[in-house]
Amino acid sequence: MGKVAINIATGSIQKEEIIVGIDLGTTNSLIAIVRGDTHEPIALKEIDGLTLVPSIVHFDEYGNVTVGNPAKELLVTQPERTIYSVKRLMGKSYNDVSHDAGFFAYNIIDDNTDALVKIQVGQKFYSPIELSSYILKELKKRAEHILKTTISKAVITVPAYFNDAQRQATRDAGRLAGLDVLRIINEPTAASLAYGLGAKKGEEKTIAVYDLGGGTFDISILTISNGIFEVLSTHGDTYLGGDDMDNLLVRYWQEDGGEGSSDLGFGSSLDKSLMQQLRVTAEKAKKHLSTNDVFEGEINGKQVHITKQEFNDLVQPLIDRTITACTSALKDAGLTTAQIDAVVMVGGSTRVPLVKESVRKFFGRDVHDELNPDEVVALGAAVQADILAGNNTEMLLLDVTPL
Ligand code: ADP
Ligand code: MG
Repeated sequence: MGKVAINIATGSIQKEEIIVGIDLGTTNSLIAIVRGDTHEPIALKEIDGLTLVPSIVHFDEYGNVTVGNPAKELLVTQPERTIYSVKRLMGKSYNDVSHDAGFFAYNIIDDNTDALVKIQVGQKFYSPIELSSYILKELKKRAEHILKTTISKAVITVPAYFNDAQRQATRDAGRLAGLDVLRIINEPTAASLAYGLGAKKGEEKTIAVYDLGGGTFDISILTISNGIFEVLSTHGDTYLGGDDMDNLLVRYWQEDGGEGSSDLGFGSSLDKSLMQQLRVTAEKAKKHLSTNDVFEGEINGKQVHITKQEFNDLVQPLIDRTITACTSALKDAGLTTAQIDAVVMVGGSTRVPLVKESVRKFFGRDVHDELNPDEVVALGAAVQADILAGNNTEMLLLDVTPL
């Protein structure tokens, strides 16, 4: 028998050390466990009630590091010190990312070689592995605080298309954060696991996982048979996500801010703090419209508004692009929509009703959206961790990736 610890969150006694599941996302990261008492996977919540930690790292001029929401607040006002989307740089050389270097507001060192990229902040240089390790350290710290026990083992998820270098970089980030990474699993596999798809022995299923996050879109077609997952095809767009919806809204208010837009300084060059307010309000409006028909807010004392219909018209072209990718993924897998047994919705942006409707319509069936779409990957990672911990003997699991 291993260590005995009382799990404060679940009220149960853990016989073995807890293995956590981690979704190390481009936009948001989070940590989940399977409850010892109910055997349900849950995302860990801090007292603030939030499960998501924005994948953003800020360095002040003294080298102090802040991760998550406090760092997100500095994104626009201190762009050169606030590192976002580091997942895009994992396992990459400057040559790999030079064509999209314009996307990053911070300084990526251009040494014109195949050496791995470094990010410069002030006089210091950081590797994407180090930057990711700060995010993982923050998650580990949270989990230890919530569970009142030491956490040293984890399952971490990665996109299905991650190559060996990217997977290795993710493992290294874990090690640097003091985590023994027991398994790296594919995000679509984790999402399917969270829904228990293909969990029964002898069951065979073909699953489409539609993942629209903050900055990226992935569609993966998987089969699961006897606990063995195989990715048949993946498609997507590495620059398509909820951030683009926010940007469209910002532009809409800048151009079409209507009455009073000039008072706001909309349309011309905005000062950084006004731009930050516009962005924050745009994201708020978007989320509000996922459950309401109209958004009304104010920026700098000025009214802004948008209806759900206006928002839908703005984002329709983005959604159309995701549906085109779904067609390609099916074609690559050699399947028709009729051969898909289940569709799983992943990523915060699938909360947008028009996204759900479009995916339902395309696949001609209802979709799985019962779990929080921005937590489902971490929940699945926790299920996998639970299997590895030996608490779940019902399922065997192999995660097979495409070549
Ligand atoms: P990632 O996988 O890229 O780390 P997430 O799955 O956490 O990202 O998705 C983040 C995106 O989801 C953000 O663009 C956020 O604004 C969006 N989002 C979160 N909640 C909602 C909502 N209620 N309605 C619309 N979009 C949402
Ligand atoms: Mg994600």
